[in-house]
Amino acid sequence: MIKKIIKKIIPQKTKKISKKHHPLRDEMLSHAAERVIRTLSESGFEAYVVGGAVRDLLCQREPKDFDVATDATPNEVRRLFRRSRIIGRRFPIVHVPIGYEIIEVTTFRSGDVELHNSEGRIMRDNVYGTRAEDSSRRDFTCNALYYDPLKEILIDDHNGWKDIQAKKLVMIGDPVARFREDPVRILRAIRLSAKLGFKMADNIQAAITQCQLLLKNEPIARLFDEITKELLCGYSVECLNRLRLSNISDTIHPLYRSITLDENSQQWQFLQIVLKNTDQRVQEDLPISIGFILAAILWQDVRQLWQKHKATGTSPEQSMVDAVKQMRQSMETGFGIPNRFISIMREIWALQPHLENLRGKRPYRVLRREYFRSAYDFYVLRTQCNDASASIADWWKTFQAASEHQREEMIQQLNAGKSKPKNKRKRRKKSPKKTDGD
Ligand code: ATP
Ligand code: MG
Repeated sequence: MIKKIIKKIIPQKTKKISKKHHPLRDEMLSHAAERVIRTLSESGFEAYVVGGAVRDLLCQREPKDFDVATDATPNEVRRLFRRSRIIGRRFPIVHVPIGYEIIEVTTFRSGDVELHNSEGRIMRDNVYGTRAEDSSRRDFTCNALYYDPLKEILIDDHNGWKDIQAKKLVMIGDPVARFREDPVRILRAIRLSAKLGFKMADNIQAAITQCQLLLKNEPIARLFDEITKELLCGYSVECLNRLRLSNISDTIHPLYRSITLDENSQQWQFLQIVLKNTDQRVQEDLPISIGFILAAILWQDVRQLWQKHKATGTSPEQSMVDAVKQMRQSMETGFGIPNRFISIMREIWALQPHLENLRGKRPYRVLRREYFRSAYDFYVLRTQCNDASASIADWWKTFQAASEHQREEMIQQLNAGKSKPKNKRKRRKKSPKKTDGD
């Protein structure tokens, strides 16, 4: 059965689109990508720009990076570029650094049939193949275009250019079989369609419903990787909407619990504020902290634990220490979040009650904490959904900008009980519906 599917999707005839019928031009490529292709070609190899870069250029977007596919083996590529390095053991690829850029050069791979297990899952995909085979093992038609900048020809075996023009995400082959081979393609389908503003073909949508629970068996680290891409692609709000529309189960990964939130809940509103802010920063090319976004996604869980500890009479600061400790245990076992992000998250959470305790000389100590700025930004976002005090946020804003002398005055005024910022959230006009985690 699978053998038949693969046979069917390997194109029998190569479709070459000349420069008259596509908008790509060699000057759209980076200097590094062009040089890698020229060098490979001058040594008698086939070489093309492939995947995301061709797709993004055809969608009039700036590519994140340029990947090259070739019939040269990794060792052959390695010999042509002095500073290049072979990486990856299972399927070796070559990183070719040119100036500040790194071009990833991959040898054509075949999606060979014998390499699937009885359920259709790809067990091995490390066999070299022809360019046509390489195109058939790719996921979507828009990702299977090959551009030769020297001849200015676009090779399009699966009608990807037509689908891009129609803004349609189309799977190469049968979506159910392709999702069984690799369930992560489900998340790729959702992210790509969100990022490109494409409509998913109906059969993809139906296959997502049928196959999504296969994602539960994926290694947690790979799922976490995909979630990071969703958060950083510049369209995280749209990704969340589409995960919701596709009814992706919140049991696939704990970070997906937010998919099922009530739209009127404070947590949903907070998440929308944080993700919109992230998308804007990505689009403006500003730095993004993954730890910060993850701290926001899990904030309501922490907040709930924090409230529980506070209700026993424990101080807000100690209650937060206890809440963070509890969160840490579950994060380390079942979330796949690398430790470097966990430590930022912990600091952001831990500082939240300290930002509200302005007694004595405490503000000076808080200001010196390594993650003060992130914690403060987090606090400000909380004020936007009435989860924190706007007047305390304003106080900190003034305090940060103040001179040493002015700071001293602000502290003295506080301690004398004058101009104390109110630790009050604004009253909501309507009483909110029951919120998750409240
Ligand atoms: P991005 O802009 O996020 O980098 P991309 O399409 O370039 O998007 P990559 O993960 O860099 O994504 O993959 C490069 C190419 O490799 C894809 O365009 C696609 O052709 C192919 N590919 C990647 N992952 C898969 C997969 N799971 N199954 C099949 N093909 C894949
Ligand atoms: Mg890419």
